Amino acid sequence: MRIVALAGGIGGARFLRGLLAAVGPQDEITVIGNTGDDIHLYGLKVCPDLDTVMYTLGGGINEEQGWGRTDETWSIKAEMKEYGVGPEWFGLGDRDFATHLVRSQMLTAGYSLSQVTEALCVRWKPGVRLLPMSDDRVETHVRITDERGTRAVHFQEYWVKLHAAVDAEAIIPVGADTAKPAPGVLEALAAADVILLPPSNPVVSIGTILAVPGIREAVAAAPAPVVGLSPIIGGAPVRGMADKVLAAVGVEATAEAVALNYGSGLIDGWLVDTADEGAVAAVEAAGIACRAVPLLMTDVEATAAMARAALDLAEQVRK
Ligand code: GDP
Ligand code: CA
Repeated sequence: MRIVALAGGIGGARFLRGLLAAVGPQDEITVIGNTGDDIHLYGLKVCPDLDTVMYTLGGGINEEQGWGRTDETWSIKAEMKEYGVGPEWFGLGDRDFATHLVRSQMLTAGYSLSQVTEALCVRWKPGVRLLPMSDDRVETHVRITDERGTRAVHFQEYWVKLHAAVDAEAIIPVGADTAKPAPGVLEALAAADVILLPPSNPVVSIGTILAVPGIREAVAAAPAPVVGLSPIIGGAPVRGMADKVLAAVGVEATAEAVALNYGSGLIDGWLVDTADEGAVAAVEAAGIACRAVPLLMTDVEATAAMARAALDLAEQVRK
């Protein structure tokens, strides 16, 4: 079976680990990763979501944190601080730096981000084909108003530095409107047997991938069933501040509202947590097949069960 999944960082990566445990060795998984969180720091290109997927599936992730490397040290960051060079709020450890050095060196030499990602995956062997959504630069910005007035900040500044403590007024994936899907993305969607939307952030992870012209259309037009899993349980994101960016796009932080926002034109099936069983009827009324199953990714086995439920639902809605 050819499975294509769109993925952000932690939520996407953890789900993919369960998916890999749920499928057989003959199944092929292609992951279309969000690059709207990418940031340039110290002249280096940092791709947090691609790296979270790569490290998680490759066994190099810091499990407790959910991002960054295991057994990390922070000498470079400390040295930068001695020079008074920030940003201090963004955590790049020494081991992680090596990834960004390799990536930036290859990009400077003229390789595309897809080629670089493929090269990095030679080391990490994530067990999936990891494609960036686009080789073109896309950077999500967030419009906020605080004591300094109304301004747009980089998504990482909003999320990591400000902890989404101020309201997001608008989410702008800068560059997305002219970005092209990376090589292989549209082909993978067209050839997929199943398309999955993991419980990644619907706005700044999945939403950004879908904002690249051609990708939303390719998901909607694909012959494969499209099934998503709710990142919202009991009216709140399981982890992080997804409610803040949902509010910015006028979507309530509920499993039902997120499904309706994707819409029956995009998804055929939707899984909500058992806590949200009450949402099933409304989602189905909107033309989306819906089931309530446990959606907490507490360990790989629980996550594999979620993946199996998603694949089962895909079979049920297959036209
Ligand atoms: P990020 O790029 O690191 O923010 O990660 P993603 O966009 O891939 O995923 C973030 C989303 O994962 C958040 O909105 C969380 O609500 C969701 N999430 C995290 N853990 C779980 C879980 O155990 N179950 C479900 N259903 N969602 C989760
Ligand atoms: Ca992210």
